[in-house]
Amino acid sequence: MPASVAIVGTGPSGCYLAQALLKARPDLRVDLIDRLPVPYGLVRYGVAADHQGTKAVTRQFERLFERQGARFIGNLDIGADVTLDDLRGCYDAVVLAAGLSVDRCLQIPGEDLAGVATAGEVIRALNEHPDSKALPPLGRRVVVMGNGNVAIDLVRLLAKSGEELAGTDLGEGPSAWLQSAGVEAIDIIGRSPAAQAKFDPVMVKELHRLAHVRIAVEGAGSTEDAEAQKRLDALAAIDGTTHGDRQLTFRFGLTPLAIEGQDGRVTAARFRDASGVEVTIPCDTVLTAIGFQSCTNLSRDDLLVDALDLDAGVLAAGLYATGWFRRGPRGTIPDNRTDAQVLAARILNDLGETGGKPGLPATEGLVDHAGWKRIDAAELAGARPGRCRRKIADRQTMLEIAQDR
Ligand SMILES: Cc1cc2nc3c(=O)[nH]c(=O)nc-3n(C[C@H](O)[C@H](O)[C@H](O)COP(=O)(O)OP(=O)(O)OC[C@H]3O[C@@H](n4cnc5c(N)ncnc54)[C@H](O)[C@@H]3O)c2cc1C
Repeated sequence: MPASVAIVGTGPSGCYLAQALLKARPDLRVDLIDRLPVPYGLVRYGVAADHQGTKAVTRQFERLFERQGARFIGNLDIGADVTLDDLRGCYDAVVLAAGLSVDRCLQIPGEDLAGVATAGEVIRALNEHPDSKALPPLGRRVVVMGNGNVAIDLVRLLAKSGEELAGTDLGEGPSAWLQSAGVEAIDIIGRSPAAQAKFDPVMVKELHRLAHVRIAVEGAGSTEDAEAQKRLDALAAIDGTTHGDRQLTFRFGLTPLAIEGQDGRVTAARFRDASGVEVTIPCDTVLTAIGFQSCTNLSRDDLLVDALDLDAGVLAAGLYATGWFRRGPRGTIPDNRTDAQVLAARILNDLGETGGKPGLPATEGLVDHAGWKRIDAAELAGARPGRCRRKIADRQTMLEIAQDR
């Protein structure tokens, strides 16, 4: 019997790893497991709805199941439905590619006020993740704290008009929320100077195409570093855009001190600038986009602390980690491919000629690739005019469609 590998998580890191393993050893049994009934992790539930070109990477990942013989096992939460130890008992190698799903907090006073939400909460709700909360009311003035690509995604979506969202997979609820939000001003705040901001210059330049915004950049400063200069050039290219009335303002070097409120609701965000002066920005909503940490139902911290060789992705004999679960919340979809190729070589070397564990036994209630394709077909067929897909957000409905009931 060939060796068996379970990959926990079907986001880009899990998929790229499965591709690399099966390319080298087509005889392997490779099972891609996800807690959700649908695959592809943040490509489906994180990448912005108006970046459908980026989401097209799933066509490449589909070939894993259609041509390379990988199996999809959806609706199985490792750590909750099956313990990690039990899973390891069924496979010759287990890889944790479970990403990071919990938002980092600012840890400043006022974070629990109504009107403060995390980027993860909003993005999951915009992408109709089955575990998402309701989208929060926004008001006229929004402060976005954070200077990564996730913050820029949020700002771009909030600033777009209805026509600019054509061709996306945004659902009726999220579309109505974005269009009726009535946002007039968005302040994008970075703790670091602009030279150290985390966003990709291309993402910033894209804001120039927004049809209804005025853009101002305050305090971007200068740098000697060629790479950082690209970020400053991108900001300079959009500074002074005057395409409409919605005001976007980039501000840098502001350390968050507190979120202020009245009657339990946000009224302002308070910062200290580089020269020690306090700056208060009145606002109705604060969205924090400062990264992600930890993961559902797998004790990542313990596993990483005890790792045999974390740089190589080896947690213990026969147990590995990759993607955001190993590295933390850094890197784009293609960055996970590089990781995957290195780890695949290590796993194949460790497996050698050994093998023989049979994989998980078939169990009721799981979703296989045919079940996912039924969900996919129902979503594509249900697309309304101006949309490319109508996502099914309810887990039970997904399961019924997957099981063809
Ligand atoms: C909002 C947002 C937008 C982004 N946009 C872009 C973009 O436009 N372009 C780009 O290149 N990169 C983008 N990225 C980065 C990119 O999404 C990541 O690099 C990539 O998704 C990380 O892959 P991963 O497989 O490690 O994790 P994930 O994509 O998070 O996949 C993890 C998978 O594991 C599953 N899982 C979790 N816990 C369990 C468990 N206990 N049992 C079973 N399954 C489990 C999850 O359901 C999920 O499917 C974005 C990231 C975010 C957060």
